[in-house]
Amino acid sequence: MPHTPHLDFPRHHPRRPLGLVLPFLTLGLALVALLRRVVLARRHVSETEDEYRDARHRVLLLGGGFGGTMIARELGKHYPNSHDVSILVVDRSTNLLYTPLLWTVADGRVNANHVSVSLRGLQSGSPFHFLQADVQHIDLDRREVETSAGIRPYDTMVIGLGSVTSIPDLPGLREHARRFASPGDALELRNHLIDAVEAAHRARKPAERAEWLTFVVGGGGDTGVELAATIHEYLTNGLLAAYPWLADERPRVIVAGRNDRLIPMSTPATSEHVREILAKQGIEVMTSTSILSATESTVVTNHSVIPARTLFWAAGISAVPVVTHLPIEHARNGSIVVDDHLRVKGYPDVFAVGDSAWAFSANDGTGVPPTAQASQSQGRYVADLIRRRIDVDLSPTVPYSFRTRGRLALLGRQTGVAEVGGRVVTGFPAWVLWHGYYVSSIPSWRNRVRLIGDLIISAISGRETTQLQLNPRPVPDSYARTSPGDGHGERIADNHDATTGASTPGTAPTETPSRIS
Ligand SMILES: Cc1cc2nc3c(=O)[nH]c(=O)nc-3n(C[C@H](O)[C@H](O)[C@H](O)COP(=O)(O)OP(=O)(O)OC[C@H]3O[C@@H](n4cnc5c(N)ncnc54)[C@H](O)[C@@H]3O)c2cc1C
Repeated sequence: MPHTPHLDFPRHHPRRPLGLVLPFLTLGLALVALLRRVVLARRHVSETEDEYRDARHRVLLLGGGFGGTMIARELGKHYPNSHDVSILVVDRSTNLLYTPLLWTVADGRVNANHVSVSLRGLQSGSPFHFLQADVQHIDLDRREVETSAGIRPYDTMVIGLGSVTSIPDLPGLREHARRFASPGDALELRNHLIDAVEAAHRARKPAERAEWLTFVVGGGGDTGVELAATIHEYLTNGLLAAYPWLADERPRVIVAGRNDRLIPMSTPATSEHVREILAKQGIEVMTSTSILSATESTVVTNHSVIPARTLFWAAGISAVPVVTHLPIEHARNGSIVVDDHLRVKGYPDVFAVGDSAWAFSANDGTGVPPTAQASQSQGRYVADLIRRRIDVDLSPTVPYSFRTRGRLALLGRQTGVAEVGGRVVTGFPAWVLWHGYYVSSIPSWRNRVRLIGDLIISAISGRETTQLQLNPRPVPDSYARTSPGDGHGERIADNHDATTGASTPGTAPTETPSRIS
């Protein structure tokens, strides 16, 4: 018998829509439940003041900067149950200011908001608590801190209140020198450069115009060097393009430092690279130079008198007043002298980190630099010590050592310098490294996305050169005035055609007009 293959015809089933829908529905619901669990697990649960007081161990972190947030987040990983161990950050600001990226705000590429990370945002997924308040008084003996929102006791405390730029008490310096440390300063720097260029445009005497176009930075460290490069960059690769008639008036940007080389905390090779890069751009470098005094239109150094109407100060920091007032051992700049475990001497339950601390590295005995990198490294170390205290872990601890990950400086148009792993990288690769490192290390993906967007947009459409005046402000006398006593400055400015450089008839100045008028 021949074998007849069995033919399997598809059978027709009656339509069963639920048969398909049900698995998808179940899968969908399971996914939603999972997502909800993840979101709920990350959602921060706030605590009352009583809950803080009643916690088994209260960790009070003064300052939500680089050091403070590092400790809060590290401890948060160990103590998700905030009723057991309470971690409270107190800061007058609700943001972590990511200072290394401030230059990108000052040079007109990035929105000021995008270099600040919301502390409330950082709470998502981390159980630390936050109190927006001013720290007014620290009582180490009573183990409590007076804040503008009441008194907070503590079992362990960390002082990480940062620092302020200190301007020496030399003639005219505190009156005329400008600081650079906040997003407001970054916007104000841009505003001031615009004001200065406008004043140069109105000035009818070449000497006065030169004064307005001369910018002196006091301080040859990282901040001074990056500040000088930022000012030069903003003027020459942004702002002055809108003033073609000032094209021949080369702005003078001067960086003056007391040391015999720039960035003295780096290697001599790096200092030399920095000097070369700045000099190539036309930035004047004055080393072994002390600024002695300043007036509205001059900066006096131990070598010369510089006719300049702008002085920025970037030489030296000091601890904040609430720290300097503590009755403990201080360094000359007011920061707290800590022991080799970053503890405040005589108070084993109190630590100091970052710019508030005067610390030495155990591995080589050198001073720990006042940088964000060092603050975070100290934060990690102190978080571990606090965890041991809370868990009564009596295993031996090692003294604190700071090992730098490297050094980066942004030095203008697509150039910079980087010291990484004992090697020095300069130029465009250093510029890329600088942006890559800082944008990727800001602790918020939201900020990262926005920063990348800003940098791309500015690369395509240019820097921001509009003057942001959040509140109408009077034009300062020195801006409104041009050559002393000529009384024509305002009229000339009003009738000057920026596109042609011509003045309308009837407004001719009584003095011989200079080239721009
Ligand atoms: C322009 C500029 C650029 C810089 N660039 C770099 C860089 O490229 N790399 C680098 O490593 N470092 C850089 N630094 C240095 C770096 O910013 C600091 O070393 C670092 O911020 C110190 O960290 P901190 O944790 O000690 O304090 P901070 O991060 O300064 O935080 C201190 C916190 O304390 C709060 N606070 C202060 N006083 C009170 C008070 N009385 N009450 C309540 N809150 C208070 C402040 O609001 C602040 O949030 C730069 C600094 C500046 C100014």
